[in-house]
Amino acid sequence: MMDSERVDENAAEEADDPVNIFWDKNLSETPKTSFPTKKASIKDGRVFMPRRETTIIRECDVLVVGGGIAGWAAATAAARAGAKTILAERDDSLGGLWSNGGVLVLLGTGYMADGRYHQTTRGLTDDLIARLEKMGHAVTPRGGDDHMYYPVADPEALKVALESLLTESGAEVLYRCQASDAIMDRKAIRGMIFETRGGRAAILAKQVVDASGEGVAVYASGASYRQYRHGVGFTYRIGGFDRFTPEAWEAAKAAGLWSGGGEPVSDNRWYACFGDPTDPFDVAAMSRLAMKHRAEAWKSAADFRKVAGCESAHLIWAATQMGIRGARTLCGVKSISRAWAKSNVDEGDTVAWMGADGRSRRGSRVPYGCLVAKDVDNLLVAGRVASCETDMIDLFRLIAPCLVTGQAAGAAASVAADMGVSPRKAPIKKIQALLLKQGAYLGR
Ligand SMILES: Cc1cc2nc3c(=O)[nH]c(=O)nc-3n(C[C@H](O)[C@H](O)[C@H](O)COP(=O)(O)OP(=O)(O)OC[C@H]3O[C@@H](n4cnc5c(N)ncnc54)[C@H](O)[C@@H]3O)c2cc1C
Repeated sequence: MMDSERVDENAAEEADDPVNIFWDKNLSETPKTSFPTKKASIKDGRVFMPRRETTIIRECDVLVVGGGIAGWAAATAAARAGAKTILAERDDSLGGLWSNGGVLVLLGTGYMADGRYHQTTRGLTDDLIARLEKMGHAVTPRGGDDHMYYPVADPEALKVALESLLTESGAEVLYRCQASDAIMDRKAIRGMIFETRGGRAAILAKQVVDASGEGVAVYASGASYRQYRHGVGFTYRIGGFDRFTPEAWEAAKAAGLWSGGGEPVSDNRWYACFGDPTDPFDVAAMSRLAMKHRAEAWKSAADFRKVAGCESAHLIWAATQMGIRGARTLCGVKSISRAWAKSNVDEGDTVAWMGADGRSRRGSRVPYGCLVAKDVDNLLVAGRVASCETDMIDLFRLIAPCLVTGQAAGAAASVAADMGVSPRKAPIKKIQALLLKQGAYLGR
């Protein structure tokens, strides 16, 4: 047999080999980051980390840490304003608690005043909802009780919509990048250290937006903050509802199997476990709680199956992120309280509005200072890390306020990066003009 024939024969054999189809045979290049030669050491029972150089994988204008809804909004706003933007997320998808935490219901989108509803989530949120509506099976129709507007999004659709809008804005997304430390030049943050799939790496930036929910950049940079223990929840979805008869569903409800409400995808329903206040930074306590919640979720589906007519019930999904309601909040240039929100005085520095939470009907301004670190330069925050008093946390952390503070922080970071100033010195009028150009609601 000639050599050429032999080669063809081998190629045909390999193509048929199911094991080989996943291999890229050209992949033999040397990795870009090398394993550190200087190791951690132990002396007298204490562990010491070595001083060593870290590979810089990116440099950018705006680095957003965390790809929850606040981080998504911050990165999209900054990139749409023309800033070279990177969003670094520890997980493999966007949306944070809204998608991976299975929260699903967008609360705090507006408020009632003068007999009409004022929607505070304009701009980016409208683009997002429009994208979800176009996708079908993605979001419940607009509207809700008392003219309030609480869309419910399917988590998988949400992830796709967030990724498409963010990449269209020009921002780069880097997954599996867990921020672990800040890079400081005296009192200015210059970037973050990440533990990535490829090893430890640095990303340098003119401005950093901490949208991690857990305030990792705030903590690591030495900015002032408060730390909380809040009830840690856990959500899951039970499927098989499309095969329940109406009578079986009534029997299940009578047996105390409460449902969290309808979803865009009709064969399943959403449920939540309510956990005790727990220190979100205590890994052992959080791990025990995750296992307890998961067992509860499994039992919940099993309980349904005991009801005649509900035998098709099964657990189809459980949150991949624990439901941490409160962790760290910045002590920023400004910090708002319920009393402040009630008086709602315009001090000329409004960058967003918060809607009502369903219990109150009032909306309130978000002053720029809630997003700006007072003691570290080049650092902004967004979402549930924003600066507020304890009595304000449960309103400020709703998805809609996280979206609008994200948009405001991203816009401010792009202005500060463009002017080469710290966010504290960025002109408020310029930030407000950019936000209005991006369709944000600033009270009109
Ligand atoms: C159980 C529960 C029920 C809720 N119910 C509702 C509701 O019905 N309606 C409502 O509006 N709100 C609700 N909320 C609140 C709301 O869901 C969250 O507060 C909001 O989604 C937070 O958004 P965020 O972007 O600020 O933070 P997160 O969603 O927490 O996003 C932070 C992101 O940063 C990433 N991250 C964290 N640390 C790092 C790191 N070191 N490096 C890189 N990335 C990191 C995370 O993986 C995550 O993707 C609920 C919250 C909980 C916990």
